[in-house]
Amino acid sequence: MSVHLAAAPAAPLTTDSPDRKNLVGMTRAEIAAEMAAFGAEPFRARQLWHWVYHRGVTDFAVMTNLSKPFRERLAARYELRRPETSRAQTSRDGTRKWLLRFDDRQEVETVHIPESDRGTLCVSSQVGCTLNCTFCHTGTQLLVRNLGAAEIVAQVMIARDALGEWPSPQDDRQLTNIVLMGMGEPLYNYDNVAAAVKIVMDPEGLAISRRKITLSTSGVVPMIERCGAELGVNLAISLHAVTDDLRTELVPLNRKHPIAELLDACRTYPGSSNARRITFEYVMLKGVNDSPAEARELVRLLKGIPAKVNLIPFNPWPGAPYECSTDAAIAAFSDIVFNAGYSAPVRTPRGRDISAACGQLKSESMRARRTVPGPVPAPL
Ligand code: SAH
Ligand code: SF4
Repeated sequence: MSVHLAAAPAAPLTTDSPDRKNLVGMTRAEIAAEMAAFGAEPFRARQLWHWVYHRGVTDFAVMTNLSKPFRERLAARYELRRPETSRAQTSRDGTRKWLLRFDDRQEVETVHIPESDRGTLCVSSQVGCTLNCTFCHTGTQLLVRNLGAAEIVAQVMIARDALGEWPSPQDDRQLTNIVLMGMGEPLYNYDNVAAAVKIVMDPEGLAISRRKITLSTSGVVPMIERCGAELGVNLAISLHAVTDDLRTELVPLNRKHPIAELLDACRTYPGSSNARRITFEYVMLKGVNDSPAEARELVRLLKGIPAKVNLIPFNPWPGAPYECSTDAAIAAFSDIVFNAGYSAPVRTPRGRDISAACGQLKSESMRARRTVPGPVPAPL
C-alpha cells in the first residue's frame, strides 16, 4: 500500500486563494483550530460548521447569529468557496455530470443519478488512477494526484448547490446516497477520503449516514479492514472475474492481492451482516467473463460471505478493447447467481449519452512532465 501512496503525488496542502483561507472542506478540528487562532470562542466553530455544512452558505453576511463586526473580520480572513464548475451536463435520463476544476487547474468529474426513491452521487477520489484496469476509461488516464479532503467534500457541496438542497433537508432529498465510484481508487487516498467521509456523515452538517455511503475498491486488501473499522461505510468490491489469471488481466492489482486474499478480507469486514451485505461488482464483458460456468464459480467463491452481486453492463468508451455481453448472456448469468440465493440485479446504465456511466469518467488533466521539458502529452 505504501508503495502506491508514495507513487501518488500529494494533494496541494491548501486550496486557499493567496490571501484568504477557504473554510469549505475543513474538518471540525480544523475549523476549531482556526477559530482558536483567530481569538474566537469555541462555540463560534460550531456556529460556522452549521452555516457551512448545514446551510451551505457562501457569504458571511448571511450568518445572522454572528455580530456584524465579527462577520466582517471573518470575511477579511476567510472565504466560503466552491471549486469552479467548468462544465455541467444533463443526460436524457436525468443523470447530471459536473466537471470540476480546482485551483491548480486539475479536473475531476462528479455524477448525480436520480432514481424514483433516492438519488446517488458518484464521487471521485483522485485525478486519474494509478491502476489500469483494462475495461476502465479512467484507467487510461495517468494518476495526476490525490484529491484533498476538501476537494472530495466540495463535490457533495456542488451537487447540493445544483440540486437546491440547502439547508440539508431531512426528507425528500434528491441526494440521499453517496458512492465512491468516480475517478480513482479511494483506498489509495485513504486519509483524505476518510476525513471527507467523516465531514459528510456528520449529523449536524451534510448528514449523509454511513449506511448511505458505499466505497468501491478494486481490491486494496491491506486497507479494507481499516475502512470498515474507522468509517463503517458499505463496501463494494470490483471483482469482475472468478479466476486469478483473468482477474489479473482485467484488474492488474490482482497480481498483488489475489482473489482468495481479497475474499478473506471481505469475510472479516467489520459491520457486514446479512442485513448489510458487501456488493460484488461484475462488469459484463462479451465472451470474456460472462459464461454460465463463471456464474457458478462466482456463487462458489462467495459462499459464506454476506454478499450481493451487481452486474454492470460494460459501458463503452472510445478505443475500448471490449464489447458489452449480450442481454441473453447477462440474463442467464444473473439467473444462476439469483437462484443460488444472491440478489443479482443488472444495473441499468445511466447517463451514457454524456459519458457519465461507470467507467466512462475521465478528465483531460494530465500529469505534467516533471523531468523532461517539452510539451505536455496529448490526452489519450
Ligand atoms: N477504483 C474503484 C472505484 C471506481 S470504479 C474501483 O475500481 O472499484 C467504479 C466501478 O465502475 C468499478 O466497479 C469499476 O470496475 C466499474 N467500471 C469501470 N469501467 C467500467 C466500464 N467501462 N463499464 C462498466 N463498469 C466499469
Ligand atoms: Fe482505477 Fe477503478 Fe478504473 Fe480500475 S476500475 S482503473 S481501480 S478507477
